[in-house]
Amino acid sequence: MSDSPPTRHGAFDPRHYEELARLDPQSYAQAVQEVSEFGIYLLDEQGLIQSWNRGASNLTGYDAAEVLGQPFQMLFTGAAVAERVPQRTLEFVRANRHHRDEQARRKKNGESLTALCTLDAIRDDSGRLLAYVEVFSDITAQKEREAALYQRATRDALTGLANRGHFTEMATLEIERARRFNDPLSVALLDLDFFKRVNDTHGHDAGDLALITFAGVCQEMTRKIDLVGRIGGEELAILLPRANKEPAYEMLQRLRLRLMESPVRTADGTQFGLTVSIGLAALNPDIRDLRELLRNADAALYRAKREGRNRVEAWFE
Ligand code: GH3
Ligand code: MG
Ligand code: MG
Repeated sequence: MSDSPPTRHGAFDPRHYEELARLDPQSYAQAVQEVSEFGIYLLDEQGLIQSWNRGASNLTGYDAAEVLGQPFQMLFTGAAVAERVPQRTLEFVRANRHHRDEQARRKKNGESLTALCTLDAIRDDSGRLLAYVEVFSDITAQKEREAALYQRATRDALTGLANRGHFTEMATLEIERARRFNDPLSVALLDLDFFKRVNDTHGHDAGDLALITFAGVCQEMTRKIDLVGRIGGEELAILLPRANKEPAYEMLQRLRLRLMESPVRTADGTQFGLTVSIGLAALNPDIRDLRELLRNADAALYRAKREGRNRVEAWFE
């Protein structure tokens, strides 16, 4: 074997490694073993770990001695094992030769990591399964950055509620879906009463605290499938998929009462109460989109304010 890799047209020739693997499998295995940023290892046909390179140790904290001969599933989180992810992954590779996924894996110290992993089945010329080879990398930090960016793009920083853009996007999709399937859907607009007074009397920070309290009550009183958004300064909106006017009205009344029982407590010990006016509009065949639905909810909200505040009004078709 020559010292330098053969080249073709001056470029590096990947056939060099195939040659190396064939002529000098020992050196090839050594090269794989030394890769430090990618975990690379073999599993036998039963899913027992047969080799373990330096990258796999670096990323998981396990030395080769701790994993060799152990089942594939020892590398997974408890939740993934409970969902049979390891077995299903191997079944998939047996059937399709290749599998690529982002999976929750477990490190030796108990922490979890998000691994981008590819698994390939190695078969001999007659098609008999010899082994599996996995290559994985740690994408935990990248996933966390993505999640933080998504959070910042879709959430209001003060209250953690959906921001106006995200609320609009989600509500538009839900309304389209509800119209197609003839499902009920409601939207409510909620505006704190005399909120300028709160700011004037207790200061802007107390006002912010009041908004956090208000947001918390809305989250607490709604279902998982509902979406609460901050669509203006002290104006929230709630999207209620699969709820027509009656259940939505009941829920909003409970929310209104709950807010009255949830005083705001500032750091200096001051305590004050809040009330909210709410306008409700339900989807009907004449309403085409979010804009029209919000217009009706806003008209109902205006009536709630005019008729004395601290009340829920529904739009009547
Ligand atoms: P109404 O009962 O008619 O709704 O009276 P209101 O005083 O609540 O009137 P309006 O809804 O027009 O008041 C909005 C006020 O909300 C104005 C502004 O000072 C306050 N506000 C808006 N955004 C914020 C915020 O992020 N923090 C605080 N502290 N106040 C805000
Ligand atoms: Mg307002
Ligand atoms: Mg207000």
